[in-house]
Amino acid sequence: MKCNIDGDFSKGELQRFGNIEVSPSAGVLNYGQGLFEGLKAYRKEDGNNILLFRPEENANRMRNGAERMCMPAPTVEQFVEAVKETVLANKHWVPPPGKGSLYVRPLLMGTGAVLGLAPAPEYTFIIYVSPVGNYFKEGVAPINLIVENEFHRATPGGTGGVKTIGNYAAVLKAQSIAKAKGYSDVLYLDCVYKRFLEEVSSCNIFIVKDNVISTPEIKGTILPGITRKSIIDVARTQGFQVEERNVTVDELLEADEVFCTGTAVVVSPVGSVTYKGKRVSYGEGTFGTVSKQLYTVLTSLQMGLIEDNMNWTVNLS
Ligand code: PMP
Repeated sequence: MKCNIDGDFSKGELQRFGNIEVSPSAGVLNYGQGLFEGLKAYRKEDGNNILLFRPEENANRMRNGAERMCMPAPTVEQFVEAVKETVLANKHWVPPPGKGSLYVRPLLMGTGAVLGLAPAPEYTFIIYVSPVGNYFKEGVAPINLIVENEFHRATPGGTGGVKTIGNYAAVLKAQSIAKAKGYSDVLYLDCVYKRFLEEVSSCNIFIVKDNVISTPEIKGTILPGITRKSIIDVARTQGFQVEERNVTVDELLEADEVFCTGTAVVVSPVGSVTYKGKRVSYGEGTFGTVSKQLYTVLTSLQMGLIEDNMNWTVNLS
């Protein structure tokens, strides 16, 4: 754990993982002033080197979120340096190649005491880590989504486009109902027309039709996923046509292939979606051909198995 208290992000120290003390009237506890990030460190085949994937993208996303949430934030350099230092201090926790990764969780929160509604007077930036395997219990097998018709994750003008803690509170109920019914996760629709795809609780959504890949455009209500952005670039360099636009639920039901992207889920094939009681299945219980190809290129880059022509990985040794 690496910790900066008081919002002076130029200094910080490594501490053993443990509880932290905050005032009961901390901004984060009362008014939701909290942002987090998620990125992964992979051990390279040689066993010694460790790769981070695009950490400056996480730094920039946290900075955008901080602006929206009236919080100060570390500079890109401070963020990346703190991530590197934390990962290196925990490098014995990075699993062997092919056996998972070290999940890195930077957290920025208003820890200063505040009673009336206002931004907190002090901030804390913490990074903690944990080794992880696959996100869904299905592993890389296809997941089953339910399209949510009642609950929404984000509204226009709200905070859906930044990685603030309250967005996750908003999905807990819909997600637990879905999981209790046996679904892997929830796919949200826009809250105005209830027709356009938004995203899943913790990942972005893509559809493939006649070899054209489409994904909802970034318009303030969905998180600009770093995996989403990377997959769009990988797909284009692989020769696919990729469209960022409004994607309707009808198109989802008629797609050839559907998949999700995110740091935790990487590229996860969707095996079925259920909408208003109607279940539509894709493929034969395996990866679709397009998502498999994109998964292979992305994970090979992240693990250092192919040359990083994109300059996306940061090598720690
Ligand atoms: N949407 C939401 C709501 C998420 O929590 C995440 C995970 N950060 C994503 C999309 C995917 O973003 P990324 O690819 O940067 O992990």
